[in-house]
Amino acid sequence: MKIIFKGVVQGVGFRPTIYRVATRLGLKGYVLNTGSEVEVVVDRDVDRFIDEVKKELPRIAHITEIIKEPEQRTFSDFRILHSKKGEKKSQIPPDIATCDECRAEMFDPTNRRYLFPFTNCTVCGARYSLITDIPYDRERTSMEKFPLCADCTHEYKDPGNRRYHAQTISCPRCGPSYHLYDCNKKDLGTTGAIQRFAHFLDQGKIGIIKSWGGMHLCCVLDELPRFREWYKRPQKAFAVMVRDMKTAESFGDITDDEHNLLLSDKRPIVLVKKKTAELVSPGLDTIGIYLPYTGLHHVLFSFLSADALVMTSANIPGEPMLISNDEVFSLQADWYLLHNRDVPNRIDDSVVRLWHGNRFFLRKSRGFVPDAFPVPYHARVVSVGAGENICGALSTDKKIFCTQYIGNSKYYGTVEFLEESLRHLMRLFLKDERLNVVAMDRHPLYESRSVAKKIADECRVPVVEVQHHWAHAASLLVDRNVDESVVLALDGLGYGGDGRFWGGEVLEASFDEFKRVGHLEYLPLIGGDQATRDPRRLVYALFRQTGKELFFTESEVEILEKLVRHAPLSSSLGRYLDALACYLGICTTRTYSGEPAMKLEKYLARGSPRYPLSVTIKDNVVGVGDVFRQLDEQLRRPLSENDTVDAAVSFVKAIVDALTDIAVRHARHVGIQTIGLTGGVSYNIPITEMVQQRVADARLEFLVHRNVPNGDGGIAVGQNAIAGHQHSK
Ligand SMILES: [Zn+2]
Ligand SMILES: [Zn+2]
Repeated sequence: MKIIFKGVVQGVGFRPTIYRVATRLGLKGYVLNTGSEVEVVVDRDVDRFIDEVKKELPRIAHITEIIKEPEQRTFSDFRILHSKKGEKKSQIPPDIATCDECRAEMFDPTNRRYLFPFTNCTVCGARYSLITDIPYDRERTSMEKFPLCADCTHEYKDPGNRRYHAQTISCPRCGPSYHLYDCNKKDLGTTGAIQRFAHFLDQGKIGIIKSWGGMHLCCVLDELPRFREWYKRPQKAFAVMVRDMKTAESFGDITDDEHNLLLSDKRPIVLVKKKTAELVSPGLDTIGIYLPYTGLHHVLFSFLSADALVMTSANIPGEPMLISNDEVFSLQADWYLLHNRDVPNRIDDSVVRLWHGNRFFLRKSRGFVPDAFPVPYHARVVSVGAGENICGALSTDKKIFCTQYIGNSKYYGTVEFLEESLRHLMRLFLKDERLNVVAMDRHPLYESRSVAKKIADECRVPVVEVQHHWAHAASLLVDRNVDESVVLALDGLGYGGDGRFWGGEVLEASFDEFKRVGHLEYLPLIGGDQATRDPRRLVYALFRQTGKELFFTESEVEILEKLVRHAPLSSSLGRYLDALACYLGICTTRTYSGEPAMKLEKYLARGSPRYPLSVTIKDNVVGVGDVFRQLDEQLRRPLSENDTVDAAVSFVKAIVDALTDIAVRHARHVGIQTIGLTGGVSYNIPITEMVQQRVADARLEFLVHRNVPNGDGGIAVGQNAIAGHQHSK
């Protein structure tokens, strides 16, 4: 019988498992990677064989389908045959944290890989970040320039060895190595490089480490004030890599689910409730923590006195994470620990927040890319995302593959990275098949559109524009496998269908069409982008007709009044949250994107809605300005801490309840049973819980994200699904 295994079955130790089971059962036949799947022939005991394989499945392998066919040929033994140059459609495994067995070897002084930072095996190590093409074999990875030594070859060829056919193994004799460099680019060699680097970090130096998917800046926590000043990130939250779970627990209150996710072989940054280290994430309730995932991290911590390091992607502002040894010196850190292996695929750390078992991905990248998930259409679609937090996507064979986290498309380097990453996915998974359509955002100024047009031109396929919040809604439909829903799409800004900027929307959405059911009242963004950067302008816009004096001098007011006539209009909840944070004195200057609204979360988690506010809804438009003015009349300055938290909750709950009520009424009217929540604002847990409560009271089902990022990182998935459905019709 011939058996075809589909799924994540290559590069994960699948063939050795097959070999072990088959030889143990005394079966005859072969196992073969066919590019897309694994083909096995056995002469008898087929069901028992499959059962045993399933029992011994390597940790990161995943079978999605098994096909059995009759086979006439006979064999005299069982062997592993060489890869066929067949179809190019296999699933590539993601980067997987160093496994326990490899880690044990690295700290065994008698082992030949003692303290070797590139130690890996069939079930662990860098994968996606170093693969250049498929089928996945050493010559199509960045390990190609490190030929196996005799000992490693022996392990590679021995079916009983746990490194049997592991494509990227190496050892101190044949593998890559780390060199220490000083700030003048001087190479101080490999001897004791990691130990010396650790010593410098303990002394308070700022270092850069080359990892699997790119470069990380790091320092001990005591150096954070200097680090912030040097890196010009005064307020932005950083992640902390901790030595172990015990240290993790000293930083945050960690639930069982978070504990498991932190220890999972994907090792993402997990946002947990913060206990200490206010400076790591100023003004926020959460702290991003992760555990060592590469061999280097483990070796580094073995030499460090510190139990934790601030660790963040090293990049020039706005540009993608650095990957090249030459370019990284431009950052002017104190010390560098760099290896001599290339990084063909840059990949940032993933960032996840858990809510009642749902995964909210703030960034879906290392460990999760290029995992595919099923979509209900055949069309082959490339989608490019929106403007910020970009991820691209490719669908083919009823599966969708997302690129790693790309960044903000305002910057040239990022746009280039988007194009490269999409082309890489197309090379890996499309083979010679024709693309059908390309999808992009409607915003005429998003640079991601240039990538969409370029690919569409080359492939001679049409480009479709997809409205931003419809794409958000569709990304949720794909995520939760439903065809239609009423959806609250709450975010920063997205280009509407009416030339205005949306972001506080109630939509009735399917993949074929959407209807804007209701939204927040429009607010002028005085000076356009400048109003986003300076939330005081938003507050001014809200109160300008009441005669209330706020923030600005008379001459400044004159200028603002001139600008207001040409100001773009926005219905974004994100902007109203910025305005509220500014108005209540929680955050009056913005140093990073989303800062005022993010800092509001802590207040929303503590207060109670004690200020009575009545909301006027006219033609399904929520009168936000009037609610602001009602609140203002009730507040007595100076505000106590209690006044501030209660005012924040009162306002937000009034607005969010009003939007949810519009959604509920419409759902009942059209007979839809679900209300969904998507968009960047849905990372905010108190707001998510306000919507959840209201939806539960109405006895409707509440949908939130689980696999697709809530924010603009999920836009490409929504665009893809909408264009895919349109094309398939
Ligand atoms: Zn391993
Ligand atoms: Zn070797």
